[in-house]
Amino acid sequence: MKKANDLISLIIPCYNEQEALPILYEELGRTAKLLPDYETEFLFIDDGSRDRTRETILSFAASDERVRYYGFSRNFGKEAAMYAGFCNARGDYVAVMDADMQDPPSLLPRMMELLQSGEYDSVATRRADRAGEPALRSMFARMFYRLIRTITDTDIVDGARDFRLMKREMVEAVLAMSEYNRFSKGIFGWIGFRTCWLPFENRERSAGKTKWNFWKLFKYSLDGIMGFSHVPLELASWSGIALTAVSFLSSLFIAVRRILFGDPVPGWPSLACIITFIGGVQLFCIGIMGQYLAKTYLEVKKRPHYIISETNAEDAVKIK
Ligand code: UDP
Ligand code: MG
Repeated sequence: MKKANDLISLIIPCYNEQEALPILYEELGRTAKLLPDYETEFLFIDDGSRDRTRETILSFAASDERVRYYGFSRNFGKEAAMYAGFCNARGDYVAVMDADMQDPPSLLPRMMELLQSGEYDSVATRRADRAGEPALRSMFARMFYRLIRTITDTDIVDGARDFRLMKREMVEAVLAMSEYNRFSKGIFGWIGFRTCWLPFENRERSAGKTKWNFWKLFKYSLDGIMGFSHVPLELASWSGIALTAVSFLSSLFIAVRRILFGDPVPGWPSLACIITFIGGVQLFCIGIMGQYLAKTYLEVKKRPHYIISETNAEDAVKIK
């Protein structure tokens, strides 16, 4: 059962969010009032912003001790920002949410209620639709989710947001997944726990611009696939086996034809095509292995996920 003064930590990764933050902060204040039985802390992770994000957050902190500012030494990416949030959150309950109100804070009381029912360890949100998103982006997103669900054992839900409220036990599990190449949707799925999915209607960003372009999303989706599946590597072996079989059969065919019909006009063009095809497949497969090798290289180097260069929290975990 809930104690009177349980703490909820809200982690908010921010990268150039000066326009969106005041709107969010106001809403957070309103939401906190709807949760009178809990204390709250807001962990703003400034992911190396180049606008006035830092000043904006520090101005909130000046008059509100719930506000904790963690400024990165450079842009490390949203995944690193979330990880820094998890490392620094002290709450009995922890939630991650975007700065742009696409993860509506007003859902928190409902999420808390579901968590308190005792049936779940975390309440996650997913978009019921992709309204307002560019058609091409929706299409690729759908394809990505279909693919990753087929080739991994991990439960990754289409339209899932990173916005979720979880109990301390689950946070500890997330922290134990200390890999360098992070893909949170996969991590949440991999660690398991009883999760309740709360669908909500998609909304547009409150202010400012999205920080993800197509290329960045594409690379992120590859991170997700490679982080949770070895199928691409198997693909390399299987295409190798298939090509070996094809070349064996075609050699046999050519030998038989030579014996029966003699040597017809030599087929240089087809030969050239075959050589380039096989060369292409080989390079593609080496490329896949190279990608995994590069990821492994980064993991073994054990570089920190993030570096905090400025904070108003005395007990901050500055490098991890
Ligand atoms: N973000 C971040 N670091 C980055 C990119 C984004 O901390 O390098 C934050 C951003 O400030 C926002 C959240 O991640 O709070 C989601 O970003 P955005 O809204 O741009 O993504 P979208 O909703 O368009 O997918
Ligand atoms: Mg957004």
